Amino acid sequence: SSGYTLLRDPHFNKGLAFTEEERETHFLRGLLPPSVISQETQVKKMIQHIRQYQVPLQKYVAMMDLQGRNERLFYKLLLDHVEELLPVVYTPTVGEACQKYGSIFMHPQGLYISLREKGRILEVLRNWPEKNIQVIVVTDGERILGLGDLGCQGMGIPVGKLSLYSALGGVRPSACLPITIDVGTNNEKLLNEELYIGLKHKRATGQEYAELLHEFMIAVKQNYGEKVLIQFEDFANHNAFVLLEKYRSTHLVFNDDIQGTAAVVLAGLVAALKLVGGNLTDHRFLFLGAGEAGTGIAELIALETSKRTNVPVEELRKNIWLVDSKGLIVRSRKDSLQHFKRPWAHEHEPVQKLVDAINKIKPTVLIGTSGQGRAFTKEVIEAMASINAKPIILALSNPTSQSECTAEEAYTWSKGRAIFASGSPFGPVEYGGKVFVPGQANNAYIFPGFGLGLIMSGTIRVHDDLLLAAAEALASQVTQEDYNKGLIYPPFRNIRKISAHIAAKVAAKAYELGLASNLPQPKDMVKFAENSMYSPAYRNYR
Ligand code: NAP
Ligand code: MN
Repeated sequence: SSGYTLLRDPHFNKGLAFTEEERETHFLRGLLPPSVISQETQVKKMIQHIRQYQVPLQKYVAMMDLQGRNERLFYKLLLDHVEELLPVVYTPTVGEACQKYGSIFMHPQGLYISLREKGRILEVLRNWPEKNIQVIVVTDGERILGLGDLGCQGMGIPVGKLSLYSALGGVRPSACLPITIDVGTNNEKLLNEELYIGLKHKRATGQEYAELLHEFMIAVKQNYGEKVLIQFEDFANHNAFVLLEKYRSTHLVFNDDIQGTAAVVLAGLVAALKLVGGNLTDHRFLFLGAGEAGTGIAELIALETSKRTNVPVEELRKNIWLVDSKGLIVRSRKDSLQHFKRPWAHEHEPVQKLVDAINKIKPTVLIGTSGQGRAFTKEVIEAMASINAKPIILALSNPTSQSECTAEEAYTWSKGRAIFASGSPFGPVEYGGKVFVPGQANNAYIFPGFGLGLIMSGTIRVHDDLLLAAAEALASQVTQEDYNKGLIYPPFRNIRKISAHIAAKVAAKAYELGLASNLPQPKDMVKFAENSMYSPAYRNYR
């Protein structure tokens, strides 16, 4: 094809990095200035360009623009500066981008499937230019981060997550498909906005919703086969649990908010044991927030502890308590509880306030999954610190504005004794002459490697044991050097290595369980994972 088309195609464009020879053979002469520069130099130039923006959203737009112009440079840049750019392409900035998606929307980055496409979803899938899809991330936009219903503008989330699948997990970008299902929105503000890009009516529910989702699930399997991974993302909990349950035995489905979060947090807790001592059974857990994240984490903790001790899960659940918007979840509330909360309704008198629950239950671990910014008050942190020498405090709600407390608050109010990690990133904190580096319980540690493990082994169903394998693999990547800094997660700069280990452990477990279909089983699983990874280095076009 013509040189001009080549420059316009983000999969092939190399900009000034096209060599003399390539410029000659691909009709690029005159379309570029004479200078030829390397990809490394381009990365240097781009990171300086990104840094000159003060406003995070401008950095985000610049990154999206690059992704749409030169895909390999985008991924090389993201991978080379992962700690700096993760907060730009993912939480917290992606949240703001979704809120303003209508006004920054430039070019389609994924598929939109709305109620208007009902009966024709297979046709819509076939409009997507890539045919060999390995991972789909799909949202219906109803619970975007902790920001609530953003309708069709939730598209920023699947796009961002899939960028991380490629950058951090090495899944080929062309094998990734972001999808937003638009059934309307209940967000009044968006419904009244001129620039809102989605269907301008209230959300469809019940049978109408279920039918559209079912058609979608059938069409995906029909078009891409048994081995395509469908990641559900940021669905409201009244649909999320139902969808996962309904499709887990017929499709390769994974809900990152429930299962991915659970694996990441479990890994952090297992690592934290090295700092505080004891076994999982020695700890008592209290959650603020009993939704997808809270109950998902709670269940995986109970499962891991059960594997380690041979004590039944039902028994171990009694060590885990959750508080929702109506207070502590207790037996007397059982009949009025949503089904996913019922296993956690233990015998106890009703308790309204979090701080009272802390003083009654005396947890060693406090986990925030409520989406309520600043819910861990001074009183709350002090209560944890008065009960525990080293209280484990995880403020997981995203984006930063919704975090249950800041890193500074956790360290200051606990007088430097808290083991702290958060969902959105916080910088280091100085307290009492010591520098504390907070860890980030970011799902991006798990899902890219987890997905790669499923893909490289041709796994056809997700099993809870695969989540446990991923969590153990992540925890094993925390080094003594990290522990010395109080960290319970390894640094992100090693993420490709971390992902390879997670992929290897997940794949090994899948083979063991007979869920893997790519035979024969590779001998060195880590090496196989590394070799399966997409490299964003430019290729030579002859
Ligand atoms: P969800 O399913 O909607 O659950 C939210 C829970 O918080 C519900 O149980 C809700 O209570 C409870 N809640 C709301 N307001 C409360 C209040 N004032 N006091 C006590 N509880 C309250 O949402 P989710 O998927 O679990 O996500 C929750 C948050 O976690 C989000 O901000 C999300 O960004 C974050 N998250 C972080 C990570 C991570 O860091 N790795 C991963 C996933 C999610 P009711 O049930 O009574 O309504
Ligand atoms: Mn999510």
